[in-house]
Amino acid sequence: MTAQPVRIAVLGSTGSIGRQTLDVVRALAGRVRVVGLAGGSNITLLEDQAREFQPSLVWCQDGKRHMDLKAAAGRSARWANMEEMAAHEGVDLAVVATTGAAGLAPTLAALRAGKAVALANKEVLVMAGQIVTATAARHRGELRPVDSEHSAIWQCLWGEDPASVAKIILTASGGAFRDKPARDLERVTPREALRHPTWDMGRKVTIDSATLMNKGFEAIEARWLFDVPMDRIDVVLHRESIVHSLVEFTDGSVKAQLGEPDMRLPIQCALVYPERVAGAGVPRLNLARHRALHFEAVDLARYPCLRLALEAGARGSTYPAVLAAADEVAVEQFALGHATFTDIPRVVDAALSAHTAPAPSNATLEAVLEADAWAREFALSRLAKKTSARR
Ligand code: MG
Repeated sequence: MTAQPVRIAVLGSTGSIGRQTLDVVRALAGRVRVVGLAGGSNITLLEDQAREFQPSLVWCQDGKRHMDLKAAAGRSARWANMEEMAAHEGVDLAVVATTGAAGLAPTLAALRAGKAVALANKEVLVMAGQIVTATAARHRGELRPVDSEHSAIWQCLWGEDPASVAKIILTASGGAFRDKPARDLERVTPREALRHPTWDMGRKVTIDSATLMNKGFEAIEARWLFDVPMDRIDVVLHRESIVHSLVEFTDGSVKAQLGEPDMRLPIQCALVYPERVAGAGVPRLNLARHRALHFEAVDLARYPCLRLALEAGARGSTYPAVLAAADEVAVEQFALGHATFTDIPRVVDAALSAHTAPAPSNATLEAVLEADAWAREFALSRLAKKTSARR
């Protein structure tokens, strides 16, 4: 039986996950076809990708480069923004590999059109998990996780009754500063924060890994992806990043998914689900070579961002949207050298304390977007005041 190729649109194709998605497509020779490419500011790479994959739909942030990009993609290529692309009749699955709030509208558009979404953009479920999962259920859209942890949980749950899940256990590498004394964190530089011990990722997620905010986002995502309350989601430090996450069932049995840290495997799982195929050629796990795997409890005092995220997730409503937006601003300002590493939890905490959220039943998309905009302004002005006070 030769299956029809899965027709995908890659949103954020020039980023880390986008590029690895295209690697997987190359390795899966013919099983997956790229019909849409959308990228941000790396227009040279986007044009190269368009020349190679000849998608019928293209988009880039810089409208002035419109004609060049269409020319690279070939005569029949059409301009379609990310929402149009994700919902297009010629697309079976949208890979949402954008970062920040940018992925929300295209994810909702794809789900409303009943498509599958391979979701790598964390903020989508953090900001609007309730809205996104309700939209998927209403329109028979499908969410497939691309993150290594959520892919692990997803794979552990294949064939299992969701009601038999007792606990989800997310593993965390601990990030770039896991061995640094807490008192030295005030002075760490963006360059140091970008040195992740086990994963090679984009800038935002690497800094979020150093604060463990990333793990907090993942806990909130898991809450929505797998419909498990926050108090049944645990985090354990695991420095080797070999056990990608675990699920404990009601009978006490625990399943884990293991592998060398390589994002191409979770990406491939999301593209060809429910099949398993040899394809991306990810390195095989050799446990004997690793010899020992380590696990430790997380010290929430050392990682205040994780504590803030778990609290915001448990409170629900627009608190997670405020968490994500304030963090995005603080991380950006840290990367630019305008804020310290420890300003990140400080600003996020201040934003969450100052925010008044509606009742969860009134946390509409408008309320979420309003909270997002409010938190960005709040965080930016907080950091600006601090900078001017220092001068
Ligand atoms: Mg992850």
